[in-house]
Amino acid sequence: MKSVIERMKEENTEYKIAVFRQKQSLPYEAKVAHAEIRAREFYHELDGMCCVSVGGLDSITLLLFLRSLGIDVPAVSVSSLEDKSIQKIHKELGVIELKPLKSKVEVIREFGYPVISKETAGKISHIQHPTPKNATVRHAIITGETGEYGGFRSGTRMRLAQKWLDLFGGPENENEGTHYQTAPFLVSDRCCYYLKEKPCSDYQKQTGRAPYLGLMASEGGRRQKALMMHGCNYYSKASTRSAPFAVFSRQDLLQLALDLKVPVPEIYGEIVRDEDGTLRTTKAQRTGCSMCGFGIHMEGRPHRFDRLRENNPREWEFWMYQMGWGRVLDYIGVEWENEPGETIGQTALW
Ligand code: SF4
Repeated sequence: MKSVIERMKEENTEYKIAVFRQKQSLPYEAKVAHAEIRAREFYHELDGMCCVSVGGLDSITLLLFLRSLGIDVPAVSVSSLEDKSIQKIHKELGVIELKPLKSKVEVIREFGYPVISKETAGKISHIQHPTPKNATVRHAIITGETGEYGGFRSGTRMRLAQKWLDLFGGPENENEGTHYQTAPFLVSDRCCYYLKEKPCSDYQKQTGRAPYLGLMASEGGRRQKALMMHGCNYYSKASTRSAPFAVFSRQDLLQLALDLKVPVPEIYGEIVRDEDGTLRTTKAQRTGCSMCGFGIHMEGRPHRFDRLRENNPREWEFWMYQMGWGRVLDYIGVEWENEPGETIGQTALW
């Protein structure tokens, strides 16, 4: 049975999420006004010691939104990870370039491939790096049972999805009496940390500035719940940040980009309105690192590696053949070598 404190915590969470959802349902103009209030509040709270973390269209729009309010703080980015057309806009907007801690090649060689999702990759990485310390976690990842420290719960979300257990659970076969496969490559959730997060947090530490981020809860992902719980502005010892667009939908973001005449990087094409009034970009809807494998198993074709092949065949060859991405995709059952639309029987073998 749940304790009173657990129930109170749950109710508090539900309440916060309900309030957040209510804000998400406001009309566009009200959400923009709300974003302005939150952005100004953050600026004053920190005496202007802020910066803007810039990547793709969302955060480029945030940068121009803040500038339109007279909030002119340094904009920073690990630009080299972005598409060339995004890098071009960063330069035009005077974004300060931060260097990644390691190269993408080094990260993959040292730690493994960022594939499936950050959460799943983290779990697989535990299984691939067994230590006495992570024994309870590994058991929970295989079985869903949390053991003594987790209150002896079973059937928890800690368990890897069956599909991934079948492919990656092998290192635990002896401990668990299972017959799962062992992948002949490492998987890691550390990539973003070395390439993006650490350079940004180092900048923030060195300068004493806290970031504005272009995050939106409507985009889902692992930060969705934290955004809903903590709202637009969050101040704590571990992390202080502002996400003025937290309650925005994609439509709100694109509308604001149009209103502010934001320069749209070429990789997105242009922002157009369909007959039913829906806004969309004519090329990429979202961008990220060209060789990232997070979410690839859920993407239809042409997927991001197909697009990379079209835009930059040499880079595609490098990642697929020399850096082993092709074999990783084969292993998880994602087609890549044939032309999109031409399905072949695949065997997941390395
Ligand atoms: S988005 Fe993917 S490839 Fe880019 S840094 Fe993060 S994990 Fe690595």
